[in-house]
Amino acid sequence: MSPELAAQIDAAPLSPGRPLIVVDADEVLVHFAPHLARWLAAQGWQLALREYRLDGAIRHAGTGEPAGAERIRALLDRFFAEETHRQEAIAGAAAGLAALAPRAQIVVLTNVPAHARAARMRNLAGHGMAFPVIANTGGKGRALAELARRAAAPVAFIDDSPVQIVSARRHAPGVVRIHFTGSEYLRPVMPQVAEADHTAPDWPSLVALLERGWG
Ligand SMILES: [Mg+2]
Repeated sequence: MSPELAAQIDAAPLSPGRPLIVVDADEVLVHFAPHLARWLAAQGWQLALREYRLDGAIRHAGTGEPAGAERIRALLDRFFAEETHRQEAIAGAAAGLAALAPRAQIVVLTNVPAHARAARMRNLAGHGMAFPVIANTGGKGRALAELARRAAAPVAFIDDSPVQIVSARRHAPGVVRIHFTGSEYLRPVMPQVAEADHTAPDWPSLVALLERGWG
């Protein structure tokens, strides 16, 4: 874990013994892919998701050539720099977290570049989701394990990425893994994830699932 990530986790205001919900942001709290598709179109690139991955899905609008890994990284970095502050909320997310907040502490664990963390916090706060935000890179399992250790209580992890559900199982096996997206745009390409403990079709169902679990 990088010193920057460790410092963010240390600084997160956690109360030991209180249930913890660790929640992803893109495609769970705020829309990402449809916004990225609009933004890419303005740069001369097309997003055509045929499966749950960006590799091969971004093509030059003129030539149809797929963007290479380095180009994708550069485009995403610019997208986060220019657009994070105005990502649109997913329906039901703010109300869902508000319903859960009386019985659990909530932390947002999100893969945004460090330079976009403040914009992500402001954007979420503007949507009524003013929770601590931890900017992660790569797999989230190690950060999740450290958050769970500090919470010393039941922990649930919510993410739309199959890779992150697998990372959670590997590094934080005691955490309940919920595979979830609130995005209609993403649902047609969303695979089943065998490593998840649960899935939910929408935010109200997700809230009901968590409330049942913690009675
Ligand atoms: Mg996500």
